[in-house]
Amino acid sequence: MKLFPLFADLQGRRVLVVGGGEIAARKVQLLLEASADVHVGAPELAPQLTEWAQQGRIHVLSGTFRPEWLDGAWLAVAATDDRAVNAAVAEAAGARRIFSNVVDDAELSSFQVPSIVDRSPLIVAISSSGVAPVLARRLRERVESMFDHSLGALASLAARYRPRIRAARPGLKQRRAFYDWLLDGPVAALLRQQQPDEAARVLDEELARPQPRSQGSVVLVGAGPGDPGLLTLKALRALNEADVILYDRLVSPAVLSLARRDADRIAVGKRPGEDHDATQARIHALLVEHARAGRRVVRLKGGDAFIFGRGGEELEHLRAHQVPFEVVPGITAALACAAYAGIPLTHREHAQSVTLVTAHCREDEDTLDWAGLTRAHQTLAFYMGVGQLETLSSRLIRHGRAGSTPFALVENGSRPEQRVVSGQLQDLARVARRHDVRSPALLIVGEVAALADSLHWYGRHLPDTRAALAA
Ligand code: SAH
Repeated sequence: MKLFPLFADLQGRRVLVVGGGEIAARKVQLLLEASADVHVGAPELAPQLTEWAQQGRIHVLSGTFRPEWLDGAWLAVAATDDRAVNAAVAEAAGARRIFSNVVDDAELSSFQVPSIVDRSPLIVAISSSGVAPVLARRLRERVESMFDHSLGALASLAARYRPRIRAARPGLKQRRAFYDWLLDGPVAALLRQQQPDEAARVLDEELARPQPRSQGSVVLVGAGPGDPGLLTLKALRALNEADVILYDRLVSPAVLSLARRDADRIAVGKRPGEDHDATQARIHALLVEHARAGRRVVRLKGGDAFIFGRGGEELEHLRAHQVPFEVVPGITAALACAAYAGIPLTHREHAQSVTLVTAHCREDEDTLDWAGLTRAHQTLAFYMGVGQLETLSSRLIRHGRAGSTPFALVENGSRPEQRVVSGQLQDLARVARRHDVRSPALLIVGEVAALADSLHWYGRHLPDTRAALAA
């Protein structure tokens, strides 16, 4: 080990920072967070440092560096852009046995400041011993993404309850199991939901119980359109912690592969011959069954669970059966397909609103306000429309939208096989047939769709040649 890691208690202890620029200000900020008694020495101060000085948060030494500035200091930081000055600080500090750090200069430094992930009181510090700062930064990003920000609150709560937990669960094995419950179960979930009082109440209740109660829960997670890069950090964490994953057909294999290796993966899509309500009832029963068995269940749906995803119904069922749940939003197909096709859904010149529509074209189910949908200056994003393109375009035109209105059909949006087919509304069905567009595909109608011709950047783009020739 070239460097010995240590966490220093700087509360009220003097630290000298030499330098008055932006870099010095960043170091000062960190030192202030650790409640150090910060002295800043420089001929001039950046605005942020001046403000702190006026607020009395830092002590200022004016002029150029003098070794006496180090009197009484426990640590020194040299953050000037002059290597000779930095070297002088390091040398004077060394002579007085004060550890010093020269920003971005491992050679001159006798201590280094690690990259940190702050979930106080938990802190993760990462160092590459000064040889690979980029690698250290990458590692920090990874660690940062792994833990929810509520982890610090959980650590504080656990610390506060430590004596009581020890008393209520005297055996080591019992106590371990209790801490597992604390970290994975409803208390952690309530802290994520910003309900600290309720978290403490549940913790008290569990401590009063002689035998642990097995209580599972459900996280309703939006898996996004397919590209695993579009998952949220929360979704990724939920997948990492799941015991069981109930997923839909629309969830991409690339997303599913990110889940914990030993999680049970159960496909719950519609079976041949089954109607939608039967499928839904089967899913409801499975959710409750697994949660009641004490498992952490992830209900994984394509896109966002609340956009044409029946997520609301599933939550109603869980609430009725008193199963606790959380919801993690996902990127819905309209947003993802538009982004990956280079189509801004709103645009100052072309569209002031966007409507997400599901295409029910059977006469008896059709409750859509077609006249409203054909108004100008709006973008329409149709879900589940591939089978009804003929009807869709003719209704829009019949109700007044121009036949020349641009459309874009995005097939397999954000996936490696993405294709975008574009043209004019009057040719929609013909163009889609010619390219054999299949589900999942999202239809975007409106002036903005034409922008795909110039702004496309991902996958294959197939403009309709007839429209292109006419233009
Ligand atoms: N909850 C989902 C939508 C479910 S409805 C969401 O928020 O995205 C299913 C429809 O979504 C499909 O018929 C298709 O129109 C659209 N869709 C979902 N994923 C898609 C993708 N990767 N590319 C194109 N369309 C997609």
